[in-house]
Amino acid sequence: MKFMVLADIHGSMEKLDKAVEYARKEDIMSILLLGDLPSYGEFRDLDRNIEWCEKTLNKLEDFNLLAIPGNCDSPSIVDELDEREINLHKKIKVFDDTSLIGLGGSTATPYQTPFELGEGEIHENLDNLMKKTKTEKKILVVHQPPWNTRCDVTNVGVHAGSTAIRDIIEEYQPDLVVCSHIHESRGKDFIGETEIYNTGALLDGYFSTLDSGDLIVELQEFDEK
Ligand SMILES: [Zn+2]
Repeated sequence: MKFMVLADIHGSMEKLDKAVEYARKEDIMSILLLGDLPSYGEFRDLDRNIEWCEKTLNKLEDFNLLAIPGNCDSPSIVDELDEREINLHKKIKVFDDTSLIGLGGSTATPYQTPFELGEGEIHENLDNLMKKTKTEKKILVVHQPPWNTRCDVTNVGVHAGSTAIRDIIEEYQPDLVVCSHIHESRGKDFIGETEIYNTGALLDGYFSTLDSGDLIVELQEFDEK
């Protein structure tokens, strides 16, 4: 299955329109959404927050969608995703012989964002999901990158990934990890044999494509940002 992977939209309906145009042009029918939908100014207002989520999801309703929340999304987005039957948070979806294993949110940030989890909670949830995964091929779909890679470095040079996500990758060695969250750390790295991709923020014109059968991720960007 070919997916377009979109993350950290942060209210940019202009970039979202470009993404839809790209998907149509490339005949991509499925979109994987890695969270952080509301605009920066409004993520703390949980009513406005969920309005941004609805607006974003409505624009994508012609596609087969799967989504996890980001740390800037309201906790109630999970109900919205469940209602629309597109929720991948704390869930596994199997396409042919590949499992997509999802967990949204992030560990505590300096910005008091609405969807933050403890490392223990992240570890427990991912451990449960990994134990339930039956396919050989595994793709971990998370908002936050694993700790201490090229994909989790902030603009002041600090690693801001999750140690629990890193531990789970070391233990279960999924084939691929797609993540975002640290906008300035778009790129690729490895933990053992596992390929890690920070897909970058759609807000900044970045996205990726994922072939879940062949286990290929390509980092992409719009020509005009
Ligand atoms: Zn973000």
